[in-house]
Amino acid sequence: MNLKDKIAEYPNFPKKGILFRDFSPILKDPSAMTVIADEFTKHFHPKNIDLFAGIESRGFILACILAARYNKGMVMIRKAGKLPGKTTKTSYTIEYGKDTIEIQKDIIKEGQRILICDDLLATGGTAKASAKLIEKVGGKIVGFAFIIELTELNGMKGISKYDCKSLVKY
Ligand code: AMP
Repeated sequence: MNLKDKIAEYPNFPKKGILFRDFSPILKDPSAMTVIADEFTKHFHPKNIDLFAGIESRGFILACILAARYNKGMVMIRKAGKLPGKTTKTSYTIEYGKDTIEIQKDIIKEGQRILICDDLLATGGTAKASAKLIEKVGGKIVGFAFIIELTELNGMKGISKYDCKSLVKY
């Protein structure tokens, strides 16, 4: 199966000049989801991972697919203001201004090994901030899993010290 055939393109969404890469057709096809899990299991060994962390919101989906396959837990990295209880935050700059992500303070135990998941890597700003957040709460990052990578934007550069794997490159 060619996963690229299962990624839709929407020019000028959510704003003019952006070509939105939509992985919805993958989610609609159980065999495509199986291929995704298969591909990541070739790269990341279960004995090295304690938990999968999903970046809101499409990263939650990949993290859950992999957590189910690896028989591990999943934790959520959310946009600020959405998680109950005590949280830890990290802010990062985006095209126009600042964004903040957060995680529940005690959801990760010191030294737990975390694989961070998102649907797509663009500039890498979100991924880099997620790494900072996970490390702030004591997690040890195993690596990053992305379904799609926009190579022209060089997002891998900011997270190159980690073991990163993407399945479909543009
Ligand atoms: P970045 O921080 O620039 O790497 O952006 C990554 C985040 O933005 C991911 O969570 C993606 O879901 C989303 N994103 C950025 N660019 C696109 C795109 N062209 N198509 C779909 N999602 C995108």
